[in-house]
Amino acid sequence: MSDVVNEAEEDGGGSDFIRDIVRADLQAGRHQGVVTRFPPEPNGYLHIGHAKSICLNFGIAEEFGGRCHLRFDDTNPTREEQEFIEAIQTDVRWLGFDWGEHLHFASDYFEQLYQWAEGLIEAGKAYVDDLPVDEMRAYRGSLTEAGRNSPYRDRAVAENLDLFRRMRAGEFPDGARVLRAKIDMAAGNMNLRDPVLYRILHSAHPRTGTDWCIYPNYDFAHGQSDAIEAITHSLCTLEFADHRPLYDWLLEAIGVDERPRQYEFSRLNLSHTALSKRRLTQLVEEGCVDGWDDPRMPTVSALRRRGVPAAAVRDFISRLAITKSDGLVEMAMLEHCIREQLNVDAPRRMAVLRPLKVVIENYPEDESEMLTAQNHPGNADMGSREVPFSRELYVERDDFMEDPPRKFFRLGPGREVRLRYAYFITCNEVIKDDDGEVTELRCSYDPETRGGNAPDGRKVKGTIHWVSAAHAVDAKVRLYEHLFNSEEPPSGDDFLADLNPNSLEVLPQAWLEPDLANLPAGQTVQFERMGYFCRDSANDAVFNRTLGLRDSWAKIKGKS
Ligand code: ATP
Ligand code: MG
Repeated sequence: MSDVVNEAEEDGGGSDFIRDIVRADLQAGRHQGVVTRFPPEPNGYLHIGHAKSICLNFGIAEEFGGRCHLRFDDTNPTREEQEFIEAIQTDVRWLGFDWGEHLHFASDYFEQLYQWAEGLIEAGKAYVDDLPVDEMRAYRGSLTEAGRNSPYRDRAVAENLDLFRRMRAGEFPDGARVLRAKIDMAAGNMNLRDPVLYRILHSAHPRTGTDWCIYPNYDFAHGQSDAIEAITHSLCTLEFADHRPLYDWLLEAIGVDERPRQYEFSRLNLSHTALSKRRLTQLVEEGCVDGWDDPRMPTVSALRRRGVPAAAVRDFISRLAITKSDGLVEMAMLEHCIREQLNVDAPRRMAVLRPLKVVIENYPEDESEMLTAQNHPGNADMGSREVPFSRELYVERDDFMEDPPRKFFRLGPGREVRLRYAYFITCNEVIKDDDGEVTELRCSYDPETRGGNAPDGRKVKGTIHWVSAAHAVDAKVRLYEHLFNSEEPPSGDDFLADLNPNSLEVLPQAWLEPDLANLPAGQTVQFERMGYFCRDSANDAVFNRTLGLRDSWAKIKGKS
């Protein structure tokens, strides 16, 4: 379990192997200052795994007085869209980070990259290959078997240059030829077996339009982009460790001396969800969820829409270990961080999610009164508000049992409970419909107990929430459970079979205290006893449950 807490050092930076390296580099004067970057490919929305990388890169820059760039690795126009470019910026800002003037795009470097590619050709270090894709794959060999040289590998420099220029000029269709580095077809590291540097794609790019019909591969753009931006510490996840020798080879071959050092760290894997853009894209495209920001998704935009505070995400990330080995982090740990934050910040309100009508028979028909309710039981500074009380109320259906066991301290026939901030009431009669379903409780209240205490010192064990029927506003409420049943959803294409069919429950008719009519979209409150809820940003008659109140993290942590 990766739940190690980082300890802060004197320079404000925490302690993990990457921060230790940065600290040592700065102390030894190897760099004037630290420059990091977060390099998303704009082919989807950011998820909470990306948040780990964002907090690490921007966090290190902040802690060590450096800067962090936001760079879009936009080298694949067939999958990239402006929508994603904008959403990613919104998400990084929401997480609390700022790249200042350092918003960059790999596409800004296309001309420079092209020139470097020509340089490689001239130096005999790259060639144009005409092998069809499947043959190229066969020539590549396998982990146990060396690859073979392409028959085009020994083309003359002049011919390579001519073909590459004609590729750029648009003379050939997609896939007809590629530019490859000439490294070593027998290399143990497959990334060094003459990797493709450029491919033909007659496809418009969100930023460069139709200027180009050849595009650099990610591996040909990434290390050079870091070098162009003078990144000092190039931080990425472990799966790129095998690409590092290629980045180094390329930078050496094109003659870049000031090279960023790459360090790889463990990616975040979270239980009961999927953190891969490919899978999240599939969930969206196949309609398994209602878009990238469906509150069940692990995306940053979904967390926001669900009412999760950015501070809780940062807190969660700060508790993760930055190590060299991947692990699985429990969703319950993220939920714990969210509850800790909301418990402090979220104002309390009353809402009845599954209503049962209560008629207070001894309360006058046409009267009502205002009662004072605290906005936060533990923080008087958050003030109070007035809630209306009248003859007809709603209480939670689960707060009544017709034949309650001894330990049930809520409503039952003949039982007395306290209505939060209001009065004691006693249930006198249970009304049912023809099917035997309870439809209404006839109760009486004790006017002496206004505010929730009896002058005769009589005690009641249960306190329940309520709303006044005549004053309440109605809303739909959406409850969420984990998106996947398994802790680790299967890795194959059958992962959809593991989707939790109960991940969304819609309560069609909830009643809220009137003050909630004014709650702005995106704001989270605690519905007393029911959990944390956020007014939906797309439909203001809907509230999304951020989380219930029960925290299972201590229990899970205790077990591990
Ligand atoms: P995915 O694996 O979800 O498809 P990706 O790695 O292809 O994501 P990029 O846009 O290339 O997505 O990622 C940008 C940065 O975010 C990369 O440096 C990558 O290492 C980092 N990153 C992606 N997923 C995670 C994760 N789960 N934990 C930590 N960092 C991550
Ligand atoms: Mg990637």
